[in-house]
Amino acid sequence: MSTVVDNNSITNTPSPPPPAPARAPASVEADREANAREIFKKAAAATAPRNNWTKEEIAAIYYQPLMELAYQASTLHRRFHDPKEVQLCTLMNIKTGGCSEDCSYCAQSTRYQTGLKAQRMEPVEAVLEQARAAKENGSTRFCMGAAWRDMRGRKNALKNVKAMVSGVRELGMEACVTLGMIDGAQAQELKEAGLTAYNHNVDTSREFYPSVISTRTYDERLQTLSHVRDAGINVCSGGILGLGEKSQDHVGLLHTVSTLPKHPESFPVNALVPIPGTPMGNNKPLEFSSMLRVIATARIALPDTIIRIAAGRKTMSEEKQALCFMAGANAIFTGEKMLTTECNGWDEDGRMFDRWGLAPMKSFDKSPRPAPEVEA
Ligand code: SF4
Repeated sequence: MSTVVDNNSITNTPSPPPPAPARAPASVEADREANAREIFKKAAAATAPRNNWTKEEIAAIYYQPLMELAYQASTLHRRFHDPKEVQLCTLMNIKTGGCSEDCSYCAQSTRYQTGLKAQRMEPVEAVLEQARAAKENGSTRFCMGAAWRDMRGRKNALKNVKAMVSGVRELGMEACVTLGMIDGAQAQELKEAGLTAYNHNVDTSREFYPSVISTRTYDERLQTLSHVRDAGINVCSGGILGLGEKSQDHVGLLHTVSTLPKHPESFPVNALVPIPGTPMGNNKPLEFSSMLRVIATARIALPDTIIRIAAGRKTMSEEKQALCFMAGANAIFTGEKMLTTECNGWDEDGRMFDRWGLAPMKSFDKSPRPAPEVEA
């Protein structure tokens, strides 16, 4: 007798078990989110800085819902810093324009027609006069910037910079300079002159960097930072947002600085001020949420570092600035100018401090707060 059977039951050998159903993408996504939340929770509970972050961990923090990210950053900020203290810094250009580098955002590069007139280095006394004015107005850190690629063959200039540094320190202020790339011997000379900090931004992620600058490499930037660190000078290194990068480049930038052998003592966050005539002169303004996200992530990844709102603050409302302070920013540049761009002035910032209950941080006063117990 023949029976019509379906092919699956045609033999007496048992059928292999059906393959396990492929995991629904939604469940994979839920696992990924749970994992990211766990990383975030642990990072926010930190009581000491760490520099073994993976890029995935930084990304897990960065992509959290923004208000939760800002809230946790704010909580951690209170563990490491006095939340009402914000440092006032003034940044003066001690040598303007005429720079050979091709940083695509910069008004001072000779490669772009920006209308900026190059000037010789300022005399020492003129710089110290500005430092005194900054001090009288409440600034406790005086930063001096020179538009140079590096300090090779600039013996006289270095001598003058050292005189400026010593003069600023005699005023009882922190002294910071940004002079381009320096070698170990130059860093040592600056240290001996009393330099508090050296600024050299990495600007963006390693991957995006070649789209911004071609005349020096990312590794050369890191090399200067290591000369600064080896000389015993504090490191100030941050980024510029709004260069046309993607959010993963913010993660890359934060990963670079948070995995340096020692965290920079200072992390400036700049929003591009588009300069007509530069390749980035028509860039779209940065979304504020990106600025806040970078500040909050930096606060968690660099818990003990001073985070500075730098270029671009002029376009931020007071409320936006307050959100940044809430999420962990604790320094601003204030005064008449910030290098070649407009800056919020001391009086305006003083009124903002009064309204929001902020107080200027004293010089050299930033020290880690004793870490409180963190509830599990
Ligand atoms: S090195 Fe400094 S001054 Fe020179 S182009 Fe780049 S950002 Fe401008």
